[in-house]
Amino acid sequence: MTVLNPLRILAVGAHPADPVERAGGTLAKHAARGDDTMMVSHTTGTVTHAFDLFPATGTDKLAIKPDLDQRKRDELRDAAAALGVRQQMVLDFPESPMLFDLAHYVTMVEILRDFRPDILLCPHPVEVGRHDHMDSGRFTIAAMDYSRADGFPSPLAPYTVPRLFLYYYEDFRTNQLMATPRQSAEVVVDISEVIERKRAAMLIFGRTQTRRGEDYPARLDRFFASGDGSVGYNNGFAYGERFNRWHPQRVPYLPID
Ligand SMILES: [Zn+2]
Repeated sequence: MTVLNPLRILAVGAHPADPVERAGGTLAKHAARGDDTMMVSHTTGTVTHAFDLFPATGTDKLAIKPDLDQRKRDELRDAAAALGVRQQMVLDFPESPMLFDLAHYVTMVEILRDFRPDILLCPHPVEVGRHDHMDSGRFTIAAMDYSRADGFPSPLAPYTVPRLFLYYYEDFRTNQLMATPRQSAEVVVDISEVIERKRAAMLIFGRTQTRRGEDYPARLDRFFASGDGSVGYNNGFAYGERFNRWHPQRVPYLPID
């Protein structure tokens, strides 16, 4: 199946694995029908998404970081290929803490103004648990706002992102710390037909995200069973990914689906 008017879909995350883990099935489905897809990671993820690779102590323990950064970049490249996602980019923003300055905002605004997504996906801005995810979401939503401003310091034409969907984990402590209810999905995408593609993409991150002595593929299977599998179970199909809408759904009558 190929769509007549392909959409441009941009999925942004704090770390390379994030958009794959939470929206990879959705991206694979859109890519397969001919939509133009892209993933952007704000950081290399080396600080928080590389397990048991740094020496525990020593003044030169971080000396391997440049090598690890490259391995993380390679992982997103290969995961994108596994999903059929056409473009991907790993930026080099500070990670844990994510500290943003004007140059970072210009970079993100120019990605939006250049790719001009019909749909943007990013982490939920109050997903407390892994603070980079929350910071990445807040930053992306701010950049989406600045992108439409005529006077923003960029030579590229302003662009208004028409649709934003937020992805998240239900188990992070949003309610305790932000006094907001635990998110409940507003949109659930049936990803059953691409679950093997998503699994193949997620397996790639096992190169740096396998803990010592761990069976990473087995952890992945538990992840699919308890995460995407439970979303599917609760919604009448095998596997699903969930999102919240930022923009209201504009319809002439009450939607029945
Ligand atoms: Zn992450």
